[in-house]
Amino acid sequence: MKKAVICGGSIGGLFAAAALRKKGWQVDVYERTAIELSGRGAGIVTHDVLIDALHKIDITTDDLGVFVEDRTAYDKNGNELLRLPFPQIVTSWDRIHSLLRASHPNHHHHLGLSVVGYRQEKETAVAIFDDNSEVEADLVIAADGFGSAIRSQMLPEIKPLSSGYVVWRALANEADLSEEVRSDVFKTFGFFVPTGSQIIGYPIAGIGNDLREGHRRYNFVWYIAVEKEELKDMLTDDTGKYYSVSIPPPLVRDDVMKRFTDMARKILPANFAEILEKSEKPFFTPIYDHHSPIMGEGNVGLVGDAACVARPHVGMGVTKAACDALCLANSMEKYQTIPEALRAYSEERVAASARAHYRARDLGATIFVEPEGGNEDGRSNPNLHEIVSTTATIVN
Ligand SMILES: Cc1cc2nc3c(=O)[nH]c(=O)nc-3n(C[C@H](O)[C@H](O)[C@H](O)COP(=O)(O)OP(=O)(O)OC[C@H]3O[C@@H](n4cnc5c(N)ncnc54)[C@H](O)[C@@H]3O)c2cc1C
Repeated sequence: MKKAVICGGSIGGLFAAAALRKKGWQVDVYERTAIELSGRGAGIVTHDVLIDALHKIDITTDDLGVFVEDRTAYDKNGNELLRLPFPQIVTSWDRIHSLLRASHPNHHHHLGLSVVGYRQEKETAVAIFDDNSEVEADLVIAADGFGSAIRSQMLPEIKPLSSGYVVWRALANEADLSEEVRSDVFKTFGFFVPTGSQIIGYPIAGIGNDLREGHRRYNFVWYIAVEKEELKDMLTDDTGKYYSVSIPPPLVRDDVMKRFTDMARKILPANFAEILEKSEKPFFTPIYDHHSPIMGEGNVGLVGDAACVARPHVGMGVTKAACDALCLANSMEKYQTIPEALRAYSEERVAASARAHYRARDLGATIFVEPEGGNEDGRSNPNLHEIVSTTATIVN
């Protein structure tokens, strides 16, 4: 039986684990976080390819998420500017992670171990952890996200680049929202695209994957451009400690939160303003991206965000990680040696990842177009139709 060690126990890692297990491999997952992961990432838009990928690893998707029928763009007064039929299932990071986690045996899941690097041996590779332990396997997979320690060793020249904007996210309980919001914005994949920013939102399941009417939540997402100095300030906590990549949500300073809520009051239409006001504490994440020219060498492969980040506008991160996992496992079956299989995998998935990566950058740029005469009411973005019709759509 071939053995794989997967570093990172989020979506990419668990997908790769399931895909390899299905091909008869023994797979051990090592996750840095010491407790079971939960609650991260909030909303995830699904695509048919993702649903198909889940079926291929024998996961049923009957209650995957909330079905939305259309997309609607609003102006500052809450008037409907554009409505497009766009059937899609929207779900949560938690839901997909819990489905994958349930499929992975506990005795092969190791929490609280951080990979710090690897060593290539003659026909195997060794993952090296922060407690100085080492695990040797036929295949070592980096699924340790965009700051991947393994990718940093394999491709030190690849550094995640800041997009110049952040995303603020929040979740509101359906039950807390007014009837007006529940009967309109809550049911749709909503957009508001005023000057220099973009708000989107959609319903997702409630806590414990509760899909019943009245028990769901609304996933609020707001992209805002932030100058370098301002970002530095936002990433600094009350004690003056600066977090170079992202700050843990509880440490965001009160004055940063206040600036955000003041801005929301000024900019948002009443419907989105109400959703935000009734949400749990919003949190922000700076948006970075990167793209690796290879996704493996020797006996070490890269999957998901460790290999490439496509900014979230295309809603492809989870789907991309799923496709990486299936392609990697299929390659392992098809080729005689692991280095050969990784070369074939890399060739296919580098190209596919690049398409998502560059498409997401282009789509991100459409947000910041400033039409003559301004666009504070959200009515004049010349790219509105493109934004509504191509955000979170599959990139083939
Ligand atoms: C605002 C926003 C909206 C998004 N919307 C969508 C969407 O609609 N649809 C979609 O498909 N995707 C979306 N994404 C992207 C998606 O969440 C990610 O692409 C996806 O979760 C990537 O999974 P991953 O497992 O590759 O990486 P991650 O989820 O980053 O997981 C990496 C894992 O590795 C662990 N780890 C890190 N370092 C180490 C280490 N040294 N050793 C061991 N473990 C380590 C981490 O703790 C983590 O569990 C969105 C992202 C954002 C920010």
